[in-house]
Amino acid sequence: LDASGEHFTNEEFEIEKALRPLNFDDFAGQQKTLDNLQIFVKAANLRDEALDHTLLHGPPGLGKTTLAHILANELNANIKVTSGPVIDKPGDLAGLLTNLEPRDVLFIDEIHRLSSVVEEYLYSAMEDYKIDIMIESGPNARTVQINLNPFTLVGATTRSGLLTSPMRARFGISSRLEYYSTELLTHIVQRSAAILNVPIIETAAIEIAGRSRGTPRIANALLRRVRDFAQIKGNGKIDLDISKYALNALNVDAHGLDDMDNKILLTIIDKFKGGPVGLTTLATAVSENAETIEEVYEPFLIQKGFIMRTPRGREATEAAYTHLGKVKQAKQGG
Ligand code: ADP
Repeated sequence: LDASGEHFTNEEFEIEKALRPLNFDDFAGQQKTLDNLQIFVKAANLRDEALDHTLLHGPPGLGKTTLAHILANELNANIKVTSGPVIDKPGDLAGLLTNLEPRDVLFIDEIHRLSSVVEEYLYSAMEDYKIDIMIESGPNARTVQINLNPFTLVGATTRSGLLTSPMRARFGISSRLEYYSTELLTHIVQRSAAILNVPIIETAAIEIAGRSRGTPRIANALLRRVRDFAQIKGNGKIDLDISKYALNALNVDAHGLDDMDNKILLTIIDKFKGGPVGLTTLATAVSENAETIEEVYEPFLIQKGFIMRTPRGREATEAAYTHLGKVKQAKQGG
């Protein structure tokens, strides 16, 4: 249960799939993004065209993959799923692209991790629905250009900063997903509990939601763990007591912060006197890579009001001191 929320067994993967909303109406939150996408999908459907290429960015577990599937559903199209690191060479991509039917969705997760040759190969596919493929080999080898069916590339990334600008420019639609409020996560927990067929009272759903790091994937994962406690230690129903008991046993912080979140705060406070400290220095001190801190951990800590970003670096706020039970030392010399 770290911030990526991606430590899953096969069975859990199946459950996660069952909990995934299938259409716009089932998808909670991200209202602005959703409103826009609904209009673009309607317009594309009306004109019987492919939807513009769509980039979804934001921290892990907020619904990028889910939205890609919803887009395909709402377009009445198929979806092919792959991911940046998996596509080795242009040939792999050519196979995928030539198999797309008109208006299909090609979902590329972690699109910032495409190799540069593969990325460049994508450009003409995205722009003109054309690719060059190599036929025959040896002295007869030559390339021919072939036409693709109009398709929609949906790219997902946690690191929009790492995307090249030519790649970014080829997406007609770009949306950033935000962390979810406790209220929305409560709704998601209740919906998931209903699908899993486990009774839950509202205060318990709120408790789980509040500790989920603003992230639906984590909310669902915590719900499943609390359900285990309710079945083994309780009467099968999820009430507030069993939720608190389970979440404490799982070492989930009252704010939903995970180990790395707390390590970052502690490091700023203990090693750097509360900051300001530069991103790379901080990254080295917590042995995590700077981009991951910037794109996965920091946005949540900023939203929670535990970190401030200043021109001179990151600073821990009063709230961070209070959260960790630390006392802020008065700064010397102003
Ligand atoms: P990402 O691709 O951004 O890492 P996913 O789309 O895989 O995130 O979402 C993780 C899980 O969280 C999904 O299985 C889904 O059940 C749940 N989820 C995400 N967004 C929502 C939402 N808006 N409403 C309900 N459940 C959601």
